Amino acid sequence: MEKPIEHYWRARLDDLKEALEENNFEVFIADSSSHAKDIVLKEILPKSGAKSISWGGSMTFIATGIYEALKDHPKFEVIDVFDKSMPDEKKLEQRRQALLMDLFITGTNAVTEAGQLVNLDMYGNRVAAITFGPKQVVICVGRNKIVPDLEEAMFRIKDYAAPANAMRLDKKTPCVKNSRCEECKSPDRICNTWTITEKSFPKGRVKVVLINEDLGL
Ligand code: SF4
Repeated sequence: MEKPIEHYWRARLDDLKEALEENNFEVFIADSSSHAKDIVLKEILPKSGAKSISWGGSMTFIATGIYEALKDHPKFEVIDVFDKSMPDEKKLEQRRQALLMDLFITGTNAVTEAGQLVNLDMYGNRVAAITFGPKQVVICVGRNKIVPDLEEAMFRIKDYAAPANAMRLDKKTPCVKNSRCEECKSPDRICNTWTITEKSFPKGRVKVVLINEDLGL
């Protein structure tokens, strides 16, 4: 068999698609990050009718090339919360306004085999948008985010994703030094709000693009 690893994951992604659809998510499967980009730009966005878009922290979203394609897009009103030229005092207001956009794109820290999205945020802007605010949400998910259940999801996030993200963001937290969560009280703590998105409400509001590649943390 050619590409046995992709074949292995494709079957897992097919099962996960079914589980997520049972939970009222709209689901797409992409064979690669460039395929995910095509799905978002050529299928989801035109069908969504969105006139305004924004996004929240997601390495996967950037890795697919969707961010690069949309950040200066003339057709949409865009709030680019990743814009490094934005003064710090304006960043928070930008994140607040992003919650009122027609469409919001981000990733997830974990997805369970039962089709639940599990996330842990520092500011809470990403989990807020997934929960309520933007009319539609697109979640880009690499196959490495799949876990058996909620317990494993929370373990993955606290044992790996949060320390690795703290390192990526140059935070002054104990996990940056020793790769382990110490449930810190640091002002730089990035672990502040958990969400479990069990179902999409209304049906189809949250769209999940499952990508047959390891992407993000
Ligand atoms: S609670 Fe603190 S030490 Fe633990 S992962 Fe989060 S930032 Fe790191």
